[in-house]
Amino acid sequence: MSRRTRVRFAPSPTGPLHIGGVRTALYNYLFAKQQGGDFILRIEDTDSTRFVPGAEEYIQETFDWLRLPFDESPAKGGDFGPYRQSERKDIYKKYVDQLLENKLAYIAFDTPEELEQKRNEIANFQYDASTRLQMCNSLTLSGEEVKTLIDNGTQCVVRIKIEPDIDITVNDLIRGKVIINSSVLDDKVIYKSSDQLPTYHLANVVDDHLMQISHVIRGEEWLPSAPLHVWLYRSFGWEDTMPQFAHLPLLLKPEGNGKLSKRDGDRLGFPVFPLEWKDPQSGEISSGYRESGYLTQAVVNFLALLGWNPGTEQEIFSLDELVQAFSFDRCSKSGAKFDFEKAKWFNHKYIQETPNDVLAGMLEPILKEKNISFEKKYVAKVFGLVKERVNFVKELWEQASFFFVAPTSYDEKTVKKRWKAETPAQLSELISVLQNIDDFSSENQEITVKQWIEGRNYHLGNIMNGFRLAVVGESKGPHMFDISALIGKQETIDRLTKAIKEIPAPKNN
Ligand code: GLU
Repeated sequence: MSRRTRVRFAPSPTGPLHIGGVRTALYNYLFAKQQGGDFILRIEDTDSTRFVPGAEEYIQETFDWLRLPFDESPAKGGDFGPYRQSERKDIYKKYVDQLLENKLAYIAFDTPEELEQKRNEIANFQYDASTRLQMCNSLTLSGEEVKTLIDNGTQCVVRIKIEPDIDITVNDLIRGKVIINSSVLDDKVIYKSSDQLPTYHLANVVDDHLMQISHVIRGEEWLPSAPLHVWLYRSFGWEDTMPQFAHLPLLLKPEGNGKLSKRDGDRLGFPVFPLEWKDPQSGEISSGYRESGYLTQAVVNFLALLGWNPGTEQEIFSLDELVQAFSFDRCSKSGAKFDFEKAKWFNHKYIQETPNDVLAGMLEPILKEKNISFEKKYVAKVFGLVKERVNFVKELWEQASFFFVAPTSYDEKTVKKRWKAETPAQLSELISVLQNIDDFSSENQEITVKQWIEGRNYHLGNIMNGFRLAVVGESKGPHMFDISALIGKQETIDRLTKAIKEIPAPKNN
């Protein structure tokens, strides 16, 4: 029986989405699109104590930015909504009641103090088949007693009843068959009377079933929950439509020891969140890939290769190519080291492929901030000359500010090394040479200036170094005549004149 591929990304809105979560969502997207299926966003907000305002909006904005659209989501709707678990309370209640009626779950009244006491009494206490009959629950109390407690509004929870010593098999598309004996599981709480809400496990399984999810693709931190989820599917009698599991490897610290955390990002200076995040309580700001100048495709390409490989040398993939190439058998079982230098490398590559006018548009806010206005066409040409030197759009300013403003000072070291006693006179002559050039193209300038240098028997390097120092303010930048051609004849001559006036001639020794 072939069933439509439907996958979901199911984050809890407890803060900014971690970059590992973004990778999980990306793999869901790639697989869904490859199979011609649906990619769904479900907000798992049943734990009201951990709810953080703005987190859901942040998630939605992340995927808008990454251009990975959901087919169904709280914002978009769909046939299987609502897509926020907090709006599905009544649905869960019904399924909890079903388990209770079938005696596959029971009500427990133990107070936190009583539980604590048990933990002190019994080493490695676990609420399960071996202990549940010593506890305060609907298995040990009479029907009357239970009713009275409930009528009195006593706080209670519902626990799933796990039968001991049964092998539970989780078929994982990445890890293969994982067999767990039910005796190691505890009778997890699946519902709480205090807020009339299910816990993660119940809500997650019920929704995956009702939303006809075919594949559960999530981080490996959820693997320990999978046997319980399989148990829940069985308890509901939903084994036949149980989704296939795929637990993705962890994202590891760059050094490879342990899980990548926000602290690693702070320590090593890279973002671990897709977008900038301002903590609503502390006001603390965490940097994001978007604000740090990453291009969407670079982030997608980079993340796709953290835990999956194509089995070839190919590294640059368009989104469509990733959709075609993705497969679970090429996902690794072991953690993927977060290589931030590689992220930069991808961004560099994608900048080279982005048309110059698009890059110019991206630089606009930075120029505006500096109160500099230039025609986009001009900015695009500057990008054309220097983009191979930049990893980020904003670096263009550092690399090429001299295309927009004349130097106001001259690098001291360069002056010392490059500004010779004869330089001012030679550059004055150069001014006249340039003055007479009508076609100020880079090629034509180069031919004319070189002819002049040869004719006068000057030292080519000395002239060009002085020229560059005058126009750029230091000894960096692309080909000199490309610079002068772009800033134009008048500007070039003005800068030469200014430098001759301002740079003191070296003392002759
Ligand atoms: N709400 C869980 C999370 O925050 C979902 C885990 C799953 O995908 O089943 O990641």
